[in-house]
Amino acid sequence: MDKKDIDWANLGFGYIKTDKRFVSDFKDGKWDEGRMTGDDTIVLSECAGVLQYAQTIFEGLKAYTTRDGKIVTFRPNLNAERMEDSARRLEMPVFPKERFVRAVLDTIKANEAYVPPYGSGATLYIRPYMFGSNPVIGVKPADEYQFRIFTTPVGPYFKGGVKPLTIKVSDFDRAAPRGTGNIKAGLNYAMSLHPIVVAHNEGFAENMYLDAATRTKVEETGGANFIFVTKDKKIVTPKSDSILPSITKRSLLTVAKDYLGLEVIEREVLFSEIGDFAECGLCGTAAVISPVGKVNDHGREICFDSGMESMGEICGKLRDTLTGIQLGETEAPEGWIYPVD
Ligand SMILES: *Cc1c(COP(=O)(O)O)cnc(C)c1O
Repeated sequence: MDKKDIDWANLGFGYIKTDKRFVSDFKDGKWDEGRMTGDDTIVLSECAGVLQYAQTIFEGLKAYTTRDGKIVTFRPNLNAERMEDSARRLEMPVFPKERFVRAVLDTIKANEAYVPPYGSGATLYIRPYMFGSNPVIGVKPADEYQFRIFTTPVGPYFKGGVKPLTIKVSDFDRAAPRGTGNIKAGLNYAMSLHPIVVAHNEGFAENMYLDAATRTKVEETGGANFIFVTKDKKIVTPKSDSILPSITKRSLLTVAKDYLGLEVIEREVLFSEIGDFAECGLCGTAAVISPVGKVNDHGREICFDSGMESMGEICGKLRDTLTGIQLGETEAPEGWIYPVD
């Protein structure tokens, strides 16, 4: 198989149209068998449920070329399970887990020529999603849905090293208690667009959201979970029903325990205590871990010991171990790596 003529090392995190995408339609109470198509467009009713009432959910994962030249993906079963939870919360039909995983593998295979080579730092990003497609004007769930998966090659998240970020405490809330913060839905991102534009205009990379009920506890950013490292090298991560359960975070916690021998604590994290931590990182598929150097709370700066020059020691070890597992350089826990063929 010949790779596409792409300058892998200089790819950004953007959309590039690839050859094939997977599509399956839900109609009359069931999913059809699905198909691979070259058509990257969707024709919809002007009144489709997704357009009127935002009935849409998504997932994100990556495919990697390993050191020995194989194409693999990482824990797609967990994306399938999380998408089931998202679907149930928005009254959408579940796309069966086995079919989800099969379709992810088939879509990667169909776009093999776009999977960046080992050592390029780039990966193939995979975007499964589902939306209500038939006309809905009275407020109710749609009756018809489309499930799709497209892929796009993306660059290394960190070009020229990993620089710590400065983030701000947001004046907006991300998710209400008993709301939809724990599902991966477009609606959670729509509301985050204004706060992120405000943060960027003020020179900050991201928003730290606090819990909406009391605004005393750390939740997450718009698209990544927090991990903190204590001065005695324990891993602390916020526990809350309104944060999105990051697969990267869950994997990093296992890496911390089983590969690095660190103690891992999931608990409520008070905003007032974050200055006591030595390191802070943002976890998600795109970046694995991005180090946070500073949090700005309305002009008051909270600085982590790791500083603004480089990633902290523990975050660096976590990142290197997890990427080593994904790239076939380090032995993976049972069931984490799915070969594409
Ligand atoms: C997707 C997402 C994450 C990261 O989850 P991963 O499974 O690690 O990619 C974190 N927070 C939010 C709000 C998200 O949507």
